[in-house]
Amino acid sequence: MDTMEKITALCKRRGFIFPSSEIYGGFQGFWDYGPLGVELKNNIKCQWWKSMVYEREDVVGFDAAVIMNPTVWEKSGHLKAFTDPLVECKKCNYRFKVDSVGDKCPECGGEFTEPKTFNLMTEVLLGTTEPKEKSYLRGEITQGVFVNFENVVNSSRVKIPFGIAQVGKAFRNEITPGNFTFRSREFEQMELEYFVRPDEKESKDMFEYWKEERIKWYVSLGIKKDKLRFHEHAEGERAHYAKYATDIEYEAPFGWSEFEGIHHRGDYDLRNHGLSYKDPQTGEEFTPWVIETSGGVDRAMLFFLIDAYFEDGERIVLKLNSKIAPYKVAVFPLLANKPDLVEKARDIYHSLKETGLSITFDSRGNIGKRYFAQDEIGTPWCVTVDFETLEDKKVTVRDRDTAKQERIEVDKLVSYFQNELAK
Ligand code: ATP
Repeated sequence: MDTMEKITALCKRRGFIFPSSEIYGGFQGFWDYGPLGVELKNNIKCQWWKSMVYEREDVVGFDAAVIMNPTVWEKSGHLKAFTDPLVECKKCNYRFKVDSVGDKCPECGGEFTEPKTFNLMTEVLLGTTEPKEKSYLRGEITQGVFVNFENVVNSSRVKIPFGIAQVGKAFRNEITPGNFTFRSREFEQMELEYFVRPDEKESKDMFEYWKEERIKWYVSLGIKKDKLRFHEHAEGERAHYAKYATDIEYEAPFGWSEFEGIHHRGDYDLRNHGLSYKDPQTGEEFTPWVIETSGGVDRAMLFFLIDAYFEDGERIVLKLNSKIAPYKVAVFPLLANKPDLVEKARDIYHSLKETGLSITFDSRGNIGKRYFAQDEIGTPWCVTVDFETLEDKKVTVRDRDTAKQERIEVDKLVSYFQNELAK
């Protein structure tokens, strides 16, 4: 099996990701997140929010509706320009994005048609009487922030330069979904729109600043540095509104692939929506420029999984950073048929759970199997209660990556894990 097959199988086996509506044969481009997947995904989003909103003074959060007045999409240019040029194979009728194939169909070697463009917006019909009102599921979460720019300025104390952060679902009628969750039709984005004065130097400096901040964030959560790179967009490659654009790419098993875009959008969006900003001190009015960092939650999660995947003989380990690991700690009684041990282990399990950390309990099989099972889902620490615990009030804490075991006093466990997680 290749790496992607192994990861897909692990995700299914251990409850990270399932094909959507699987009992009815799935649905192309849609995925469901299982008990462990939702934890990992939430942890990624929480870490992002923490670094973007809680740890900064110049960014506020936002959460716009998925469906907006269709005029938003007309003004933003999405109804005209949000398209992908595609070619269709004359023999097998498969369609491909022009920039993803060569001269011949990779499926059957057939000839291609001339490229045609397809709009990626997903239409929705609202109301109960005909004709129904047509709107769209948002193709990017960005516009919800732009159309609320004045609402945020007038209702909070933000002053330029400042940012608005948002996490939420986006939908694209992708013609060629694939590479597991990499290209889906429903996915989540985590985006910052950072507003600056319309000044070439200031905005370029801010663009460079955000490039570095974003790559640092992924490295701080454990992604290997040599698997990351910037891909600067050349003139013809950029969206029509972008002054500068850079992708952060990861070296996936299917090649270097984008999972976050840093874009200098100029004043394109605010101007199209007829919005501007008045400096509270000078009274000067202008249309701010925007630096955007636009990351995919699902793509980030996929790359965190790929990057963490490690095989050591029979043993599979997900070396996920403890901040994003689905469970932080697993608690075991050494033997499941000794009530004293089980009771003590359950006490410890409950006292750790009270800290708000995600903790699991396991008493199935033998201890070796339990370690294997926790390694495979990336649990950084396992705590074992044995007969000595009942005497010396200490437990064995085993580290996932080093397999090192330490005896730690039960009373010190909470602070031990809190310290480890703060590292
Ligand atoms: P691509 O060229 O791969 O289609 P894009 O350049 O259109 O991506 P953006 O519009 O810049 O992507 O969206 C920002 C981020 O949203 C991407 O970096 C990616 O992480 C995520 N994203 C975009 N499209 C999808 C999709 N179909 N499935 C999953 N994530 C996506």
